[in-house]
Amino acid sequence: MPHDLPELDQLHELIDRLGDDAWVEQLAEIEHEDLRVPILAVMIGARDPSAPTFALVGGVHGLERIGTQVVLAYLTTLASLLQWDGMLRAGLTRCRIALLPMVNPVGVALRRRSNGNGVDLMRNAPCVGGVATPLVGGHRWSPRLPWFRGPKGGPMEAETLALCEFVRRWVSCASASILVDVHSGFGLVDRLWFPWARTRRPIPQLAEVLALANLVDATLPNHVYRIEPQAGSYTALGDVWDHLYDEQRRSRQDQPFLPLTLELGSWMWIKKNPRQLVRPLGWFDPMQPHRLQRTLRRHLALFDVLQRASAAPAAWSGLDAPSRAAMTRAAFARWYGR
Ligand SMILES: [Zn+2]
Repeated sequence: MPHDLPELDQLHELIDRLGDDAWVEQLAEIEHEDLRVPILAVMIGARDPSAPTFALVGGVHGLERIGTQVVLAYLTTLASLLQWDGMLRAGLTRCRIALLPMVNPVGVALRRRSNGNGVDLMRNAPCVGGVATPLVGGHRWSPRLPWFRGPKGGPMEAETLALCEFVRRWVSCASASILVDVHSGFGLVDRLWFPWARTRRPIPQLAEVLALANLVDATLPNHVYRIEPQAGSYTALGDVWDHLYDEQRRSRQDQPFLPLTLELGSWMWIKKNPRQLVRPLGWFDPMQPHRLQRTLRRHLALFDVLQRASAAPAAWSGLDAPSRAAMTRAAFARWYGR
């Protein structure tokens, strides 16, 4: 059994509470020294693979426990809503919510960024081309250094494979899907990043990204998120979202799949409580109880809007050619200064 994984206990409790309203898949079981922990996915709603899907992922980096906790906070709200909200229940007959709260349970248990093999799972996917910010953008030198991509030519780690399987089976197969992967540890504000990570070049679906950003701006007028391309902050090789986004573009261009990264601005927690600096998790997790509570409730409105948007893809995708061209020009002006 794990040393210290209250998040896994909480997930099991939520699964019990959800009962027949959800189905659970064990994607893998990860062993490391005396640990043996499952990677669990929870799905709610339509089983039809093509049903529009909203997905939430957390715990890719074990130090960033707050990501898992934010996903579990959303699942807690859903478990309660399903008890009394007929509107949600009716909506979920034709769309799906898919959750993978803890991609890297060994990392979470051991309080480390990487998995048990020292591999940074968000640098572990195959990658052709691209330029990485030195070190932080991924390297093949040694698992003793952070941001290790895994041995050259080696297979992907079990956790990365589980994440890819989850996305293919329940998310990118959908007629339209939006995914949010929750992280922390960078910057003063909460950022919502869209691909790519490996290059500053814009993705082909820039028009759809701007249409979705406009939808979020209009629906949550006072939101806190800075929506921007990930590569504007740093570039990285082997990003799993680059890998899965490209795969989708190659095989199913007509089924929009937008993988976003929610990067919680943890430096604000340090600024307000400098003692966090000297605590092992202080750089990544809010340590004051009120700040933790605020973080856990802060993102529920965003997830609600994105879940609704995933089920209403006509609001942000399927643009006709003239609107697409206009939207692309506006996106270049907003994000690329041209
Ligand atoms: Zn992270």
